[in-house]
Amino acid sequence: MKTIFETSIPGRPGVWPDEPHKRAQDMLPAELLRGKKPDLPELSELDVVRHFTALSRLNFGVDTHFYPLGSCTMKYNPKHLEHVAALPGFTDLHPLAAQLKGAGQYTQGALEVMYELERLLCEITGMAAYTLHPMAGAHGELTGAMIIAAYHKKQGNQKTKVICPDSAHGTNPSSAAIAGFDVVNIESRDGIIDPAALAEVLDDETAALMMTCPNTLGLFEDHLQEIVAMLREKDALLYYDGANMNAIMGKLKVGDAGFDVVHLNLHKTFGTPHGAGGPGSGPVGVCEKLTPFLPISRVVKLEDGRYFLDYNHPDSIGYMAPFYGNFGVALKAYAYILRLGREGLIRVSEHAVLAANYLRKKLEHVLEIPFNRVCMHEFVASAVQQAEKGVRAVDIAKALLDKGHHAPTIYFPLIVKECLMVEPTETESRETLDLFVDDLVDILERADNYPEAVTGAPITMPVGRLDETKAARDMAVTWDLARELDEKQAQKPAPAADDA
Ligand SMILES: *Cc1c(COP(=O)(O)O)cnc(C)c1O
Repeated sequence: MKTIFETSIPGRPGVWPDEPHKRAQDMLPAELLRGKKPDLPELSELDVVRHFTALSRLNFGVDTHFYPLGSCTMKYNPKHLEHVAALPGFTDLHPLAAQLKGAGQYTQGALEVMYELERLLCEITGMAAYTLHPMAGAHGELTGAMIIAAYHKKQGNQKTKVICPDSAHGTNPSSAAIAGFDVVNIESRDGIIDPAALAEVLDDETAALMMTCPNTLGLFEDHLQEIVAMLREKDALLYYDGANMNAIMGKLKVGDAGFDVVHLNLHKTFGTPHGAGGPGSGPVGVCEKLTPFLPISRVVKLEDGRYFLDYNHPDSIGYMAPFYGNFGVALKAYAYILRLGREGLIRVSEHAVLAANYLRKKLEHVLEIPFNRVCMHEFVASAVQQAEKGVRAVDIAKALLDKGHHAPTIYFPLIVKECLMVEPTETESRETLDLFVDDLVDILERADNYPEAVTGAPITMPVGRLDETKAARDMAVTWDLARELDEKQAQKPAPAADDA
């Protein structure tokens, strides 16, 4: 496809915004005005619309395709939330207005949203207080790990290590390490935490255990109560990675279960699209004894009903983000929660879990399912049997693209060989799930009988099988480099499947 600059015909501009240009001339000092017009492509409005619509169709998106990517939770985000986030009363606020003397009256609505959202998240998770500052899940983990460190320091505890099971998300150990802890890994057993393995490493130096629950295999921890008791005994804290909260909303308040710190991913559970680098939001909730260590500022409600930002917390870990986190994401989460209400959120979790188990049962005859028991919002299958015949998880994933489905997550989590991690989400209809099953079964039959039909996929996509190592190591992300590479590629035969 040509770039929009290559499509440009000099002298055929669609719209030229002269008016703002003139206004800028009146308002700005001469040295700030550009000397010549920007080098924009010249096309009619219709050609611009066609160009970008065609571009958007080169990609997979949830608006057109089933998207069973695992470890990602919700994919479809209701469109009305974008409308809420674009309300000018919010978008026109200057981020400093909340701190300006006399401007507080204009920010009351925004502060109310933040305050009320924190209360709602407390209700959903059973925590005492929240901060909305962290910009993503991993940033929330870092915030949580720093709060844990600050708490132990204040107590005079000599705590140096954080335990992470191998079924935890990879960001858990890295966040603990960045916060200054030594990370100790423990092996899971039957896909969940093994209390015996935990007992081996748990000691007085343990600051916390970080648990992803449901874990990256989509399994809930059976030994939760025992684990909580073991940690309490050593004065160690329990961290809950709540990125998978959409599996248990309304079913379990993690604070009541004994967790001390939790992060949520608003961009995975509460209505903001994710991927492609954000924006995200990873609010952190804490139990009562950890509230003094939360980042500043904190939103406070006064007795007369007004809100203000409180910076006076001497034990706080300080600032974790400029201003107040990603306010727009918080706003969408607030609207999403209010729109669904208590019953609606419970139904989200029930549907997410039901859809995953439906697929698991439908596929257990054709794919190996290493931990084949009732799962939560996702499950992990393995293509080890197919791999013996030369068809690997990556081949199945590529073949699904030709069938019009996005691929599941593959080769993650690392503890399952040739894995396909399937997460259908709460929004998909039974008909869509059935179609996915039929298409996957068809691919697996072909894998059995004509493996080369699968290892050559995809054949209908804008780009065929890529050399994935090269794509990551030797990136060409500007159009001229990509074009050069395309041309070179066209002169060479496609790489064999094994190179991928
Ligand atoms: C996505 C995810 C994270 C990291 O969240 P980001 O917002 O991507 O930083 C952490 N834990 C789990 C279980 C996740 O799925």
